[in-house]
Amino acid sequence: MRIDTILARKQTYSYEIFPPRGELPLQQAKEIAGELAQDHPDWISTTFSAGGHGNSQNVAAICAQTQNELGVTALAHLTCMGSTKEDVDYYLDTLEHDGIQNVLALRGDKTAGKEPKDFRYASDLIAYIKEHHPSLCCGAACYPEGHIETKNIKESMEVMKYKQDAGADFFVTQLFFDNEYFYRFRESCARSRIKRPIVVGIMPFTSQKQIQRIAFTCGASIPSAVIKRIIAAGDDRDKQAQAGLEYAIEQLQDLAQNGVDGLHIYTMNKLQVAHQIHSALKECGYLAA
Ligand code: FAD
Repeated sequence: MRIDTILARKQTYSYEIFPPRGELPLQQAKEIAGELAQDHPDWISTTFSAGGHGNSQNVAAICAQTQNELGVTALAHLTCMGSTKEDVDYYLDTLEHDGIQNVLALRGDKTAGKEPKDFRYASDLIAYIKEHHPSLCCGAACYPEGHIETKNIKESMEVMKYKQDAGADFFVTQLFFDNEYFYRFRESCARSRIKRPIVVGIMPFTSQKQIQRIAFTCGASIPSAVIKRIIAAGDDRDKQAQAGLEYAIEQLQDLAQNGVDGLHIYTMNKLQVAHQIHSALKECGYLAA
């Protein structure tokens, strides 16, 4: 089903599969998506060459498998940095052939040796998709704390507007650890006439090392509440991960109470973490019991 159609009907709950390095083998992806499917998410997305580390060859096949074998709507990511129109057409034709209706159109991170070819920004890709593959529902990224290369919130809003004007049907946020940024961002979006639904992406942190890396790659602020919990967990990695899960659940429950269009979990393929979040969102009434 098209994601804009689902978002028009309800507050959504969805998962992201993330292959950290290299290609995610189809069988492994099936095991992960199959386990996540037990929670009946509205969709499962699969990242595309995140961080420039492979995983572009299997994305379409993983999405086809998720949708056609497991019965869960699939969202296929696509980055355009270094891509030609022919590359994009080949990928999108494959998706359409396999019945995938949803694509998340992204620029991708700047990586050494990768220069833009036919697309400079995500909005160029969105416009191209809407012109040449009009049957696809097209999502785009947005950044409650601003993209790492963006100067200020005004520029952030302008870029979101470009994406909306190019035809983006919905947005998914970058992760953040302080909900206040999201609430302020949402107000700015309303003032800037951003009318498309905004799905909130949240990632439970797993360790001090990981959250520090995130802070420096995507510019997410680390609130003192998070720092205190990591300090309380000490050097124990399991306790740090448990602190991350508990913090994410509190964040998600607060977002649920404040009326969001959808909640999207960056699972990092941690299945038990996903299941525990799912249970917590049932307990707070965001998801049906
Ligand atoms: P853009 O919207 O093109 O923005 C990139 C930069 O250019 C920003 O600083 C923006 O302000 C600026 N800009 C945009 N348009 C203009 C313009 N017209 N004029 C001037 N400046 C402009 N990465 C992956 O590699 N694989 C993935 O699967 C993936 N999935 C993601 C999913 C989500 C929900 C999010 C939030 C991010 C994801 N990323 C992924 C990371 C993403 O690729 C990076 O954040 C990337 O650096 C920016 O992508 P974008 O689509 O937001 O780019």
